[in-house]
Formats: sequence, structure tokens, C-alpha cells
Amino acid sequence: MADYDLIVIGGGSGGLACAQRAAEYGARVLLAEAGRLGGTCVNVGCVPKKLMWNAAELAHGLEDAPGYGFAVEGAVPDWAALKRARDAYVLRLNGIYERNLASRKVELARGYARFTGPGAVEIDGRAATAAHIVIATGGRPLVPEIPGARLGITSDGFFELERRPGRVAVVGSGYIAVELAGIFAALGSRVTLAIRGEAVLRHFERMLGEVALEMMRGEGIEVVTGASAESVRDSGGGALEIGLHDGRRIGPVDAVLWAIGRGPDLEGLRLERAGRAGGRGVELNPYGFVATDPYQATSVAGVYAIGDVSGRLQLTPVAIAAGRRLSDRLFGGQPERHLDYRNVPTVIFGHPPIGTVGLSEAAARDLYGDEVKVYTSAFVPLYHALTAGKPRVHLKLVTAGPEQRVVGVHVIGKGADELLQGFAVAVRMGATKRDFDDTVAIHPTVAEELVTMR
Ligand code: FAD
Ligand code: NDP
Repeated sequence: MADYDLIVIGGGSGGLACAQRAAEYGARVLLAEAGRLGGTCVNVGCVPKKLMWNAAELAHGLEDAPGYGFAVEGAVPDWAALKRARDAYVLRLNGIYERNLASRKVELARGYARFTGPGAVEIDGRAATAAHIVIATGGRPLVPEIPGARLGITSDGFFELERRPGRVAVVGSGYIAVELAGIFAALGSRVTLAIRGEAVLRHFERMLGEVALEMMRGEGIEVVTGASAESVRDSGGGALEIGLHDGRRIGPVDAVLWAIGRGPDLEGLRLERAGRAGGRGVELNPYGFVATDPYQATSVAGVYAIGDVSGRLQLTPVAIAAGRRLSDRLFGGQPERHLDYRNVPTVIFGHPPIGTVGLSEAAARDLYGDEVKVYTSAFVPLYHALTAGKPRVHLKLVTAGPEQRVVGVHVIGKGADELLQGFAVAVRMGATKRDFDDTVAIHPTVAEELVTMR
């Protein structure tokens, strides 16, 4: 008999959720974690990022305050003090996660896990076997393979900064580039954003990226488009300079931050040992992530992958949901339980925030052709009636079919982050435009616009 019913490799969002749900069903669970419990989200992701975003929102609030009669001068926070408070909070969370594991009787093994054979792993020298093994090792930030790239930092390094860099170049155009460029700018850094194309957030509804870029420029962020970095060099006095493919240069800056995506963390796992000799090993998809079926199963029986390492939507609630559903299926008597990856709502914490769920207009047109109808609105929210800055909220509803089922909700503007969750429920339930229209508005809010669009 195997030592455990389940071994989970990785104590991040997905691994913790999977292990705890399995233990709640009475499974004997071992969880291996090489670093700090909570993984990326808690230590170098969502949580410390959101705290920094809060600080940046406060900075924007201070800019707005004179319009409301407050006599405040623009102030920047003490970065070091903010970091200390943030680190202390994260440390508290690490402890809470450890206690949660203990209270659910999940055994924690600290160290690097690697496969030693089918159903067998070793964690820093300690051998263990299980009927089921879940790979939940997450991802790592990518760094381009160009000369001098290591002079730059990634989001991991962002959270280590003891001082705010006065001038910073952020390279990339996705979630992290938009979020961290916005935080730096709000907290007083001079920011240059270098993007390869002409737009940010290209994988989302087009309107969101266009408006976000316009707003970032409005905040004073210099945006360099068509910028492909070819080298980074120390230009003296601790300053850095990025050389672009066409001879242009960005810099001197005090920090270069790469935000160009995240790859799977499979280092040292010895995946090739997970399968039976002569059988299929754990297969990877063309991007190098662990390939899984809709039930999170890999190509090796008894081995599963969840969260960022499986290369689906790299979001904490997705990793958690996949992990819990897998345990429901394996140990909770729910053989069909699995995560539906459609209509997952997500927020990019820019300034203002950006919320999106469902299909973009372009994706809806590809799928439903002429049966797509789109409703848009842009307005200055009441909050900004009295402030010097007048950023507008932009909204788009995408509907499909004669019944006008709402298949996409996209919002950039104040409140987008908090309003989206409820609308995601409606989209998931198949609400129509009529259902939206029949819902009485809450006045005066930004959200009410979504139920009053014509
Ligand atoms: P992880 O959380 O990365 O956990 C993997 C764990 O496995 C790590 O603790 C690692 O140490 C451990 N590990 C790796 N290899 C081994 C091994 N061989 N043996 C033992 N342990 C091992 N998502 C959101 O939903 N909202 C946000 O606002 C958000 N903000 C983000 C901001 C940033 C800057 C970043 C980088 C990410 C953000 N994300 C956000 C994404 C989110 O953090 C990830 O999707 C989520 O953490 C993935 O969880 P996971 O369990 O798959 O992996
Ligand atoms: P993203 O996948 O969001 O964006 C990376 C973008 O960078 C690419 O889409 C690409 O855009 C551009 N890029 C790729 N390679 C290069 C290159 N060599 N030079 C310049 N630009 C390049 O990755 P992130 O690193 O921003 O974030 C990783 C993941 O973490 C996200 O996908 C998200 O799932 C998660 N995350 C979630 C957050 C949230 O929920 N709020 C916050 C932060 C991260 P293009 O093709 O346009 O050049």
C-alpha cells in the first residue's frame, strides 16, 4: 500500500486548495513545498501587488482630494516603511497557511520534490509514495535571452526593492507591465513602458487596451511602441540603458523590469521518471507547460497538474478551483467534477482598474457572426465631477443571438474591479440583455450603467 492517498507538489494557491479539500474528505495527504507557503500569489503576486496597488490608489486619491476641499499637498509614501508593513503581513499569512494545513491534518514536507518512479517522489532525500500525485509547482517570470538581461529585474525583484527607483523602464504589455508601471508612476517614479506592438493587453477586448494605453500616457508614463529589446547595458553610475532592435535606446534608468510572461516551473522535477518504463511520460504542450485533459489528468495515469504549471489561465482562483474540483473528483465521489475554463472573470489592477469576463467583440463575431450586438458607453463618473482629473469609465456589453445573451462584459474605470464579480455570475448563468435591463439600477454608481445601456 502507498504511503499516502495523495502527494501534492507545491504549496501555492492550487496545491494548498487541492491538498486541503482532499484531507477534508479523509484522504491521507502529503504536501511538499520548496519555498514559502502560499506560493506566488501570497509572496510575490496578488497579495503584495494589491497592497502596492492600494498605496497607488491612495496616491491618486490625494491628487483628487483638493477637489473635495481637502488641503493636501501631493505626497509620496515612505517606500521602505510600506515594504516593511507589506512583508510583515505576508509573513503572517505564511504562518496562517501552515496552521491551516496542520488543522486539516495535511502533512507538510519542506523541500524540493522530484519524481523517482511511478507513484513515487523524493523530497530532499525523503521517499514517499501515493496513489495520486498532483503537480502544482506554478511558474516563473521569463527573462529574454539577450545580452545584459540579468541586469534587469522581474516582478519577483519588484517585491525586493528597498527603495523606489527614480526612473524605471518596464518591458512588456500584459497584466504585470500594466499593473507595475501604474504603481511605479503613481508612487512617483518616472516610467517608460516599452511594448513590442502598438497596444497593451492585446489578448483582451480591444477597447480595454486602447483606453488603458491612453490613460497610462495621461498619467505621464512614456510609452515606446514597436520596441524590441536587444540588449541591456550598464551606462555608468548604476544606471541602465536598453538597446532596441532599430538602434533606439531607452534610458538611462535606475531599473529595468521584465514583464513578458511566465513559464512553467518544472526544474528538477524529473518528470521523465513519473511514468512506467516504456510507457508515455508526462507530456508537455507546445509551450512547455504540462499538458492536461479537462479533468487535470496528465498523460501518466495517477499524475495530474493544476494551476500555472498547466498553462491555462494563470490566475489564483483558477488554480484553487481546479485543485478543489480535482479533489472532489478523486476523493469526494463526484466523478464528473472539473473546472469549466470559460467565462472566468479577471481584473487587471491598473489605474483605473480593468475588469473583463467572457468574449471580446472580435471573438464573439468570429463565433456568432452577424448575430452579435454591442453596447458601449463612456462617461465621467460622479466621483470625478469635483476632481481636477476627469478619467472616463468605458464599458462594453457584447451580446449574441436573437435572444441577446450577454457573452462579454468589459469595463475600464473606477470600480471595475469590484463590480465585475456579480456580473460574471449573470454571464455564467446565461443572462440576456433583457435580464440586465429588467434589473433595477443602483444609483449613483458606475455599475448601474451596465443595466441601463441602450
Ligand atoms: P504558485 O502559487 O506559483 O505555487 C507553486 C509553488 O510550488 C511555489 O510555492 C513553489 O515554491 C513550489 N514548488 C515549485 N517546484 C517545487 C518542487 N519541485 N517541490 C516543492 N515545491 C515546489 N492572480 C490573480 O488571480 N490575481 C492577481 O491579482 C494576481 N496578481 C499577480 C501578480 C503577480 C506579480 C504575479 C507574478 C502573479 C499574479 N497572479 C494573480 C497570478 C497568481 O499568482 C498565480 O496564478 C497563482 O499563484 C498560481 O498558483 P499555483 O498554485 O499554480 O502556483
Ligand atoms: P502576460 O501574458 O499577461 O503578458 C506578457 C506580454 O508581454 C505578452 O502578451 C506579449 O505581448 C509581451 N511579450 C512577450 N514576450 C516579449 C518580449 N520578448 N519582449 C517584449 N514583450 C513581450 O504576462 P505577465 O508577465 O504580465 O503576467 C503573467 C501572468 O500572470 C498573466 O498572464 C496572468 O495570468 C498572471 N497575472 C495576473 C494578474 C491579475 O490577475 N491581476 C496580475 C499579474 C499577473 P505582445 O505580444 O503584445 O508584445
